[in-house]
Formats: sequence, structure tokens, C-alpha cells
Amino acid sequence: MSVQNVEKYRIRLNDGNSIPLLGLGTYSMPQKTAKGACKESVKIALDLGYQHIDGAFVYFNEHEVGEAIKEKIAEGKIKREDIFYCGKLWNTCHPPELVRPTLEKTLKTLQLDYVDLYIIELPMAFKPGDVFYPKDENGKLIYYKTDLCATWEALEACKDAGLAKSIGVSNFNRRQLEMILNKPGLKYKPVSNQVECHPYFTQPKLLEFCRQHDIVIVGYSPLGTCRDETWVNVSSPPLLEDPLLNSIGRKYQKTAAQVALRFNIQRGVVVIPKSFNPDRIKENFQIFDFTLTDSEMKDIERLNKNIRYVELLMWSDHPEYPFLDEY
Ligand code: NDP
Repeated sequence: MSVQNVEKYRIRLNDGNSIPLLGLGTYSMPQKTAKGACKESVKIALDLGYQHIDGAFVYFNEHEVGEAIKEKIAEGKIKREDIFYCGKLWNTCHPPELVRPTLEKTLKTLQLDYVDLYIIELPMAFKPGDVFYPKDENGKLIYYKTDLCATWEALEACKDAGLAKSIGVSNFNRRQLEMILNKPGLKYKPVSNQVECHPYFTQPKLLEFCRQHDIVIVGYSPLGTCRDETWVNVSSPPLLEDPLLNSIGRKYQKTAAQVALRFNIQRGVVVIPKSFNPDRIKENFQIFDFTLTDSEMKDIERLNKNIRYVELLMWSDHPEYPFLDEY
């Protein structure tokens, strides 16, 4: 591996903890997903040896993740400390006084005492309350102004209380990361920034900035998303049809998906591919038994198109919309 501090399947975090390089993503549109599919998939993943699950309260299936973990622990297959769970603070819960109660709600839903990582899901606050997407009478989403540094301090308190072992952010650009890093009295740096990352969106500058600050990049949509047009920018071509990824895959008897995942973990980027299909959950796990050459890594890097699948353009008028800056 080209990156220091990478143990066999884990990478060290700046607070002394570590994160498994591969996790199971769990976002699936609730309207299009059978009840129990998430639970079944998490159970399959844990049986296969996945140690990292990525979820969120706003995915509306966090209870299924918790049930799967509970059952596997009860079966004696795993121990709580073998599992790394990442939960996320939603946009309506940014006011500092809401942070701990929101995390406690997540813990209750999961039936766990702590999460391994708790992250601010997006830097954009919405009006606080019980409605996840609060709208005005014209159907326009109601934004809210919060101080991300104050939200961060509330996360620090959750770490001190033992409710989250590590704390991080997601979808933060360089300016927003610097705001936290330069905060007077900063107690803990973010351990990670979860952002879109794959061969068509390689994030070279943000990755370099994060490396300099000992912040791990967790790559979401590492297979190029499910391409659901309601939230994905499908003008960027399907990643897994890429000729180079497929031809490199043939060389190693691997799929384009496995090559895409391997590319990221080999440069120290954590990947959280989502699959609720048993064969593909297994396929995505089989990425530790081959190594891409330096020249293959460079060739894959050159696939970068600098186009996001997850643009979140509907919120582009939010003052903290993160994707207008170069990185
Ligand atoms: P992915 O890039 O992980 O792709 C998921 C899609 O690929 C699904 O349609 C899945 O279908 C399919 N798939 C999975 N494995 C394979 C394979 N081996 N070959 C072919 N197709 C495959 O997209 P996501 O956008 O779901 O990202 C992953 C996770 O990242 C999310 O689930 C979520 O946990 C997190 N995330 C976080 C965000 C954030 O803002 N912080 C934003 C977006 C995602 P099937 O299930 O049928 O296998």
C-alpha cells in the first residue's frame, strides 16, 4: 500500500482509533426497498467478515442495522467491539443543543451504547424540528443558519461522553474543513471527511489536503451510485461500464466494481459500497487478494472526469452549499 498507517484491512485515525477500509453502505430509497432487505444484507455482510457498516438516521433503516448487529452478537458470531458503525447527524439537528439528543435517538434505534464514528452528514443546516425536509407554503425547503463550529463542539462533547468513539464530517469542502481546523480551542480534529470518491471523481486536491491534516477520506458512491435519476446526475456515464476498469479486471479475474474499490483502498481511501444483493455483497468484499500496479493506479487516476454523480443541486442556493468551491 502506498499510504502509511494502513494496517492490513484498517487505517489509523488521528484520534488513535482505526477504521476498516471496507464498509457496507446502507442507503436505499425507502419507497423502492423491501422491508427487512437492509437487515438481511447487514447480517450477510457480518457473516462474510465485513466489520464496518455505514448508515444514517435519515436512511430510515437504522433500526434494521441495529437488529442485524444484535442478532449476530446474540448468535455469538461477533462482539460489539468487532464492529465499526458510522452514524450521521442530519441537517435539521445542527443546533448544538440538539446534537447529543439526536445521537441518543440513533443509539436507541440501533440498540447500541455508542457509535464508532459520528459525522455531520452535510454542512447545510435546515430548519430544526421533527420534519426532515421542512418546506414553506411554496414548497421551498427552509434553510437555517447555524455555526458549524458550535455544532462541532457539541460533537466533541459526545466523544467525551463516550457516545461516539470518533467524530468526523461529510461533504465538507476545504474552506469548511479549515473553519473547524482553525477553530480557537479545538479539542478534536475531524478524523474523516466522507465525500463522493471513485475513478470518475478521484478528489485529488481534497485528498491531498486531507492527507496533510491527517484526515481520512471515506469514499461514498464508490461504484458510481445506483443511478436513480431522482437524485443522481446520470449525465456522467456509468462507472462500472468503463473499458479500462473492465480490462484491468479481466487481468486479475476481477470485476470493474472490484477494481474500482481496490483503486481507492490502495491509496488509503475507505470505501463503503452499498449492496443488498448477497452475491454482490460478497463480490465487494473480495478486494484484498490482488494488487494494482503503480502504472494501473496512474491509468485509473487519469479516468477522473471531475463530474459528481451526487451534486445536490436542489440545495445549491444554501449559503453553505459545499460544491461551488474548487474543492
Ligand atoms: P454505490 O456506489 O455504493 O453503488 C450502489 C449501487 O451499485 C446499487 O445500485 C447496488 O445494487 C450496485 N452494486 C453494488 N455492488 C455491485 C457490484 N459488485 N456490481 C454491480 N453493481 C453493484 O452507491 P451509494 O450511493 O449507495 O453509496 C454507497 C454508500 O455511501 C451509501 O449506501 C451510503 O451509506 C453512503 N452515502 C453517503 C452520502 C453522504 O452524503 N454522506 C451520499 C451517498 C452515499 P445492489 O444493491 O442491487 O447490489
